[in-house]
Amino acid sequence: MAKRVIVSKCLLGYRCRYDGRSCLDRELKKCLKEWEVVGVCPEELGGLRGRRGPFQIKGKTREVFLGKAKVVDRKGRDFTREFLEGAFSTLKIAKSKGVKIAILKSKSPSCSPDYIYDGSFKNRLVKGEGITCFLLKQHRIKVFTSDEFKRYILSYKKSQSRRG
Ligand code: SF4
Repeated sequence: MAKRVIVSKCLLGYRCRYDGRSCLDRELKKCLKEWEVVGVCPEELGGLRGRRGPFQIKGKTREVFLGKAKVVDRKGRDFTREFLEGAFSTLKIAKSKGVKIAILKSKSPSCSPDYIYDGSFKNRLVKGEGITCFLLKQHRIKVFTSDEFKRYILSYKKSQSRRG
């Protein structure tokens, strides 16, 4: 049976981003041909559909789970509840399907495994994780960016061809 992987839906071509667009990654889709893909959009799962935001995390991601930091829009409105709901719904899907790997979209306050905006809405990126990524990692799910996953598949294929 194919291995299962959770993937941010916008990377698969769904127009679920805050600005109504997708971030289709064709190369990634090619790499996933032999995988059973479970597409998720945590923001949609949290009830945030259609054009919205943008949102940023004000404070540290881990502190959002302790009620000490928030996810806000440009006007400072609090969307923390929706982001947490999306993260826990994604975790529930992962657990129910026995998924151990996720490929999540970079720079998103929900999904990002590497960089997020710093909460100032001044276009400043900092190292950090989105809410859903953080929660999945806490539950021992291995999270990749799409570029990391493509590199991983490439090096796996190279090692297989050297053997065979
Ligand atoms: S929440 Fe994740 S899957 Fe949904 S649009 Fe944002 S980056 Fe893509």
